[in-house]
Amino acid sequence: MLIYEIIDKKRRNEKLLKKEIEWVVENYVSGNVLEEQMSSLLMAICINGMDFKEAYYLTKAMQATGKTYSFDFDIVDKHSTGGVSDSTTLILTPILALAGLKVAKMSGRSLGTTGGTIDKLSVFDNYKFNVEEDEFKKIIQTVGASIISQKNDIALGDKKIYALRDKTATVKSIPLIASSIMSKKLACGAKVLLLDVKYGKGALMKNKKDALELAKTMVKIGNMNGTKTWAVLTNMNTPLADGVGSAMEVYSAIDAINGKKSYLREISAELATYLYQMSKNCSYLSAKKVISQILKNPNAIMAKLQEMISAHGGNCEYLMHPENLINAKNYYELKASKEGFVTEIDALDVARFVMLLEDRAGVERKLFQGVLLNVALNTKVSKGDTLVKIYCDGELTDDEVASLEKAIIISPNKINIEPLIYKVVRSVK
Ligand code: URA
Repeated sequence: MLIYEIIDKKRRNEKLLKKEIEWVVENYVSGNVLEEQMSSLLMAICINGMDFKEAYYLTKAMQATGKTYSFDFDIVDKHSTGGVSDSTTLILTPILALAGLKVAKMSGRSLGTTGGTIDKLSVFDNYKFNVEEDEFKKIIQTVGASIISQKNDIALGDKKIYALRDKTATVKSIPLIASSIMSKKLACGAKVLLLDVKYGKGALMKNKKDALELAKTMVKIGNMNGTKTWAVLTNMNTPLADGVGSAMEVYSAIDAINGKKSYLREISAELATYLYQMSKNCSYLSAKKVISQILKNPNAIMAKLQEMISAHGGNCEYLMHPENLINAKNYYELKASKEGFVTEIDALDVARFVMLLEDRAGVERKLFQGVLLNVALNTKVSKGDTLVKIYCDGELTDDEVASLEKAIIISPNKINIEPLIYKVVRSVK
């Protein structure tokens, strides 16, 4: 099979066959298809797209380049396409374990401006992310949940193709994103998978239409594979909680568990409810009852989180003293320049500002740089009120602090706040 013909076929906007897709993936992994040939094919896919069948074949071909995990018990998993102050995993994992489900998660590090669960868990000294398969399974069996970093032996083809896409401006293609995410998720071996597909300023998908197309493609791939898969489309225009930056996000997650209202708490409860409903085949309302009952007992949720972190060797000191998570050398405040209502908090601008703080801090201290928002949408402010608390090791000039001002819009009138959940996709024809 000539790679030249396959590239030319996609250039002419024709459909690729299963055997052609499998051949390309296998031969790219083994080195027989060259980087320039794969780049060219990926660009043709970006421009001309792939239909559902092609995306499914690509997913399965990439999954087949690594191991697929299997368990003696039914596993549930949740995947977020990435957000700002999105520490839902830290909240819903202990909740689901308390509800009697078994959660196995292979998570990633931050990607661009979106935070990663592994960075957040790195705050807990000595947490082991690379536990062996036997230990991973043992922790799930005994504690009910384990979060580790993505194993090196899964979906090797995706790893190699993603690295190339990153260098060749071919990330932004819905079939390529869907197959990349799903090849890894299917390899993790869950029976039930809930996808949190985010749209908006702080998300990979900037609008609802693209997010819906991505969600439908992934849900269809999952269900065709025999994995019960739903997707929840959620608003990612505004950070989900006060904290942005790894340690600050852990701080916000603890707040949320302890009952502080935020989008983060709301979304974690919703996702936990859907996962419970999917696993137990029950109604939304009965699932909601179970999850609400668990949420009424923050001590039990914190104890379960502690049990999970300890099982991975992590130091849980910060769970007992979350105030110690705020330990950067310097503190600055962004103050309101006028009075009015906060009508916009741009998640992307805030995340970019935090990245700047992290870049200045160096590897060792990166996790502890960040901000705590002191306002939410529709908060009334007067001139001089604190909008954002900034915690960093480096020094900031007044201009640098003021650069964050564009992230927060203050207007004379309140706004109607968009619902957090736009849609739930349960099946796709
Ligand atoms: N995350 C992935 O795993 N793959 C993509 O293509 C984009 C985001």
